[in-house]
Amino acid sequence: MKIIRQITILGSTGSIGESTLDVIARHPDRFQAFALTANNNVEKMLLQCQRFRPRYAVMLDTQSAQQLTEAAKATGLNTEVLSGIESLEKVASHPEVHAVMAAIVGAAGIRPAFAAARAGKLILLANKETLVMAGRIFIDLVKQNNATLLPIDSEHNAIYQSLPHHFNGNLTASGISHILLTASGGPFRCAPLASLEKVTPEQACAHPNWDMGQKISVDSATMMNKGLEVIEAHWLFDAPPEKIRVVIHPQSVIHSMVAYVDGSVIAQLGNPDMRTPIAHAMGYPERIESGVPALDMFKVGHLDFEEPDLKKFPCLELAYQALAAGGNMPAILNAANEVAVESFLNKRMAFTAIPAMIKHVMQTVIQEEITTLDDVLIADELARNKARGWLTKLQ
Ligand code: NAD
Ligand code: MG
Repeated sequence: MKIIRQITILGSTGSIGESTLDVIARHPDRFQAFALTANNNVEKMLLQCQRFRPRYAVMLDTQSAQQLTEAAKATGLNTEVLSGIESLEKVASHPEVHAVMAAIVGAAGIRPAFAAARAGKLILLANKETLVMAGRIFIDLVKQNNATLLPIDSEHNAIYQSLPHHFNGNLTASGISHILLTASGGPFRCAPLASLEKVTPEQACAHPNWDMGQKISVDSATMMNKGLEVIEAHWLFDAPPEKIRVVIHPQSVIHSMVAYVDGSVIAQLGNPDMRTPIAHAMGYPERIESGVPALDMFKVGHLDFEEPDLKKFPCLELAYQALAAGGNMPAILNAANEVAVESFLNKRMAFTAIPAMIKHVMQTVIQEEITTLDDVLIADELARNKARGWLTKLQ
């Protein structure tokens, strides 16, 4: 008899959360939603609870939790409603949970991801910000507690699939020369540099190939997403920066590649739909149906590749600099980027001010080593304050 695996989804109302529930719905004999969590979208959470009947629903926001409790009572739902960050940590580390889908957006995802690692869970990691902010500490924690990390980010999942079986964490010993991280180039790949000043949040969020949350959509438009992914790949595969090369591939069909010393390049291909990496990680090592149609090579027709334009997309360069600097710098980069993206989405500054704000914060914060999660959270707060200060002066 197949064991039904209990899954906690951190960020179930988001784009990755919904795709995860779609995969769960296709395999009721394998998976059960144990806990669903969200920030404040009560309406969507109620619908999800009615359909998936989780044991727990956590709303970060207390008032939203109150509303959900009342709605649950009125509709006769058995789901227990909790609130606050401690409750997110509780459902991420609950003894009955087998796997945790870490799909909260941004730095807010770090504490529950740490709780899952401490509890030795199988962590399906979409929240790349955790690795960017606290790569060394998080990877060590995973190892110390026998937790397992499987990448959900499509590029890292593709790399994982293209590595040799039984990869032991050593690229050189496995005959790997480098990693080719593919990037679509985002909605402004062909836009003239001078036009970027005036682009709107709507234009920035209209990704040509992927349907994603707002923050990662803007990150894709600035190419900071690829920068964060370089840092993510560094920690996941113990790859030095010079072995991680970014390749623009506008069709988003090849999700990334691994180049070997004998000249072979192994790639993973598929339609751009996050249900493929989600199903891969959820079913691992088995292959399970994801709902994604087979790739039609005749429709794809051709695959193109270009070098990234660092002048047009300075965020990519800033991420490489933060990785080289180490210590608190990647956490500073991440926090400044979050404030910058939010300020752009709220129409408080131009698209081109995003890299300017991040650069300013990176130049004014003192570089320090970090050894604990608290150090990371302090660096995060410091960078946010600097970024907000810069914005106030700008206006
Ligand atoms: P989203 O904005 O669609 O969803 C975010 C989820 O997090 C929502 O459920 C929201 O309620 C919850 N949330 C937001 N702020 C919170 C807070 N302060 N505390 C607790 N919960 C909070 O985002 P998304 O596009 O699904 O992305 C989620 C993560 O996955 C991000 O780290 C992103 O980089 C990564 N990722 C996403 C995609 C994609 O295709 N969407 C691909 C690769 C990686
Ligand atoms: Mg990605």
